[in-house]
Amino acid sequence: MSTENNPEQLYNNSVQILTDLIAFKTISGEDNSPLIDYCDNILKKLGASSFRTFDDEKKRVNLFATLKAKNSNNKKPIILSGHTDVVPVSKGWSSDPFTATIKDNKLYGRGSCDMKGFIACTLAYAPIYSKSNLDRDIHFSFTFDEETACQGAPILIEELKKRDIKDGICIIGEPTNMKIIDAHKGCYEYTTYFKGLAGHSSAPHKGVSAVEYASRYVNKLIELREKLKTRAPKDSIFDPPHSTLSIGGVFGGIAHNVIADKCHVNWETRPVLKEDGIFLNQEIDKYANEELLPEMKKIFPNASIKKDIIGEIVGFDRQDKSDACELISSLTGDNSRQVVSFGTEAGLFQEIGISTVVCGPGSIDQAHKIDEFIVLDELKKCLNLLDGIKAESVPN
Ligand SMILES: [Zn+2]
Repeated sequence: MSTENNPEQLYNNSVQILTDLIAFKTISGEDNSPLIDYCDNILKKLGASSFRTFDDEKKRVNLFATLKAKNSNNKKPIILSGHTDVVPVSKGWSSDPFTATIKDNKLYGRGSCDMKGFIACTLAYAPIYSKSNLDRDIHFSFTFDEETACQGAPILIEELKKRDIKDGICIIGEPTNMKIIDAHKGCYEYTTYFKGLAGHSSAPHKGVSAVEYASRYVNKLIELREKLKTRAPKDSIFDPPHSTLSIGGVFGGIAHNVIADKCHVNWETRPVLKEDGIFLNQEIDKYANEELLPEMKKIFPNASIKKDIIGEIVGFDRQDKSDACELISSLTGDNSRQVVSFGTEAGLFQEIGISTVVCGPGSIDQAHKIDEFIVLDELKKCLNLLDGIKAESVPN
């Protein structure tokens, strides 16, 4: 595979690699190692060094690969970051979701825009980086299970901390039509389980209704939601400006005349400030442990309330001065800064001191949908950006 600096060939390679990537069925939660092997092989052949981190079952894999600087100039390394998982497919696709199909300048397939398009561009461009006289490291960070509350990235981030990779510029190539996104709210998801005591409905005092205690818990959350509104920062850049909270579902009970012994509540919050997340958790845990649980235990000592963290995607905060945003602005000429309503891995990189921006090809409007596609021109724009990064990563 020779890419040289022939734009046409480079573009064709990106389409070919994207086609290959889409064929790996990397739905969140499933084994993504064949895709990781594919990426690792491309990069290793170019001289990259890499390491992997795993989930507990070693089924799902993060890859972090590096093309080392030939002459280190103390320039901050650049991390090109993408998640390898895709959301599940539902019925109704016009073509096979795992076979890339090109029609009318669009490439269809699950993950085409979210976000294998970006990964494909970085892999197509990698041969050029490897041949360049790089004066900074270029890293490739490919994670698992972003779509299920960022389960993979924190494992990678821990390893980056150990390896002292915590100063740099990270570009998260989520689909933004190559616009600069520099902030989003956090997204915390929880399920709270209530265990009570079943009984005949004619004697409510002899049972512990998990459904009733769950209802009170839900009411408390709704009360706290009002408090979150009053905590909105004055200069909030978000719409709505405050942290939100939503009850996604309440599940429990088997019949009109049976006291329910089990119930669970799915809920989520999107904090604009980390402190709001802490506040909310403290308040609701206190209520559960100090008010609800003692009442439940009076009748049934084995009663319990257990809150499971499904995921806590940390927020991505706007910085007054961002090396990452400035780099993209200087290369694309886009000086705008936008916020988005979806969560990404950006906050995780930012938390360890890496200047981070979300900017990638394709539109979020097509993500997670039937007939997901990427407009092919977006791949060209992304390749141009990667070309600009090369210019900024060789001595001038
Ligand atoms: Zn995504």
